[in-house]
Amino acid sequence: MFSYWEQSTWLEKIDYCIVGSGIVGLTAALHLRRKAPKARIAVIERSALPNGASTKNAGFACFGSLSELVADSRKMPFHEVIQLIEKRYNGFQLLRSELGDAAIELELCGGYEVFRHAEKESYEDAFAFMEQFNRALKEFIPGEVVYSDATYRIGEMGLKHAEAMVFNRAEGQINTGKMMDALIRKVQQSNITMLFGLPVLELVDEGTQMQIITKEGSIKASKVVIATNGFASQFLPELDVKPARAQVLVTSEINDLQLKGTFHLDEGYYYFRNVGKRVLLGGGRNLDFEGETTTSHDVTLHIQENLEELLMEMILPGKKYTIDYRWAGTMGLGDEKRPIVKQISPNLFCAVRMGGMGVALGSSTGKEVAGLVLAD
Ligand SMILES: Cc1cc2nc3c(=O)[nH]c(=O)nc-3n(C[C@H](O)[C@H](O)[C@H](O)COP(=O)(O)OP(=O)(O)OC[C@H]3O[C@@H](n4cnc5c(N)ncnc54)[C@H](O)[C@@H]3O)c2cc1C
Repeated sequence: MFSYWEQSTWLEKIDYCIVGSGIVGLTAALHLRRKAPKARIAVIERSALPNGASTKNAGFACFGSLSELVADSRKMPFHEVIQLIEKRYNGFQLLRSELGDAAIELELCGGYEVFRHAEKESYEDAFAFMEQFNRALKEFIPGEVVYSDATYRIGEMGLKHAEAMVFNRAEGQINTGKMMDALIRKVQQSNITMLFGLPVLELVDEGTQMQIITKEGSIKASKVVIATNGFASQFLPELDVKPARAQVLVTSEINDLQLKGTFHLDEGYYYFRNVGKRVLLGGGRNLDFEGETTTSHDVTLHIQENLEELLMEMILPGKKYTIDYRWAGTMGLGDEKRPIVKQISPNLFCAVRMGGMGVALGSSTGKEVAGLVLAD
């Protein structure tokens, strides 16, 4: 006697199955479809909606604040830092061409890095390297210089306790919800089966195929791609990927809001931007690295209070607002900043560890893993 599960024609042997429906998983599915028009492709997601980082992120289309890149260039060769920036920049262009600027509500309003009084050494360092980075970035980012001194605009943005500011004209912001809606719609229109609310419990390598075990039943697939990012250790405990919770809050609308654009502070541990007349602020993971190494999506009092203090003292001094929304998501971090895209065994692949730059890196990483699967 067949169960409803076993007689579902949808689930007859699948060619390519992607576990995880974030930006990486969905983009991988689209690229597989383009190259394999007749293949049976499925994306399996544990939640009713994608529920890791892609639906929770702050919408920064960024490729690295100057002080972070300077710090990176002390740990690795300069040309590798530039390659990393190029990969992020090109990845973002790929997302734009995949979905179109209108669908993701892209605003190319530029990004800022803000330095406080106590960070004199850090911003002097950043300013000293600015020209070198501008020269290198000119090779692949058309137009004027990318980084410039924007200290004179601190007052215009309404910021307090800021000492210096660097502008990056090539960064922008997107509407994350719209981006994910557009991606899901595109995947569904591409004759790809999407199974939501179905956590994958186990992946069994049977040599000639993979068995994907869920509580509803099991599915057989020729090739599986793990695109679960911060949750990767469930299937691949040997990889250098740890979950990192990121917490966010959003204010009510503020009629006299001066802030416009995307901002990074404290080496990127804090990030804020305007969302229309609201302000979104996230970060504070550095206050409790151990506690924030978790897949829990609860927000914590300690970090939320710290974010509120930052809002009141530095970002929105003297303004009237309430906090309308708070949430948390899971990033995938490791010792290195590059994503891990590789073949684990003949039928198993992974594309994980997107860090805090999945908006810029997600599309190119999805494309890269699809290429790897098809090349096999
Ligand atoms: C609060 C926050 C703010 C951020 N801000 C920015 C930003 O401004 N700019 C930027 O570039 N990046 C930002 N990021 C990072 C960015 O969102 C991620 O790098 C990117 O979304 C990762 O995409 P992904 O597809 O690899 O993973 P995810 O979007 O995490 O997708 C993985 C999916 O796998 C699913 N899954 C996990 N386990 C299973 C299982 N067993 N079975 C089935 N499904 C499973 C999850 O539910 C999830 O939907 C932020 C992240 C967070 C959390």
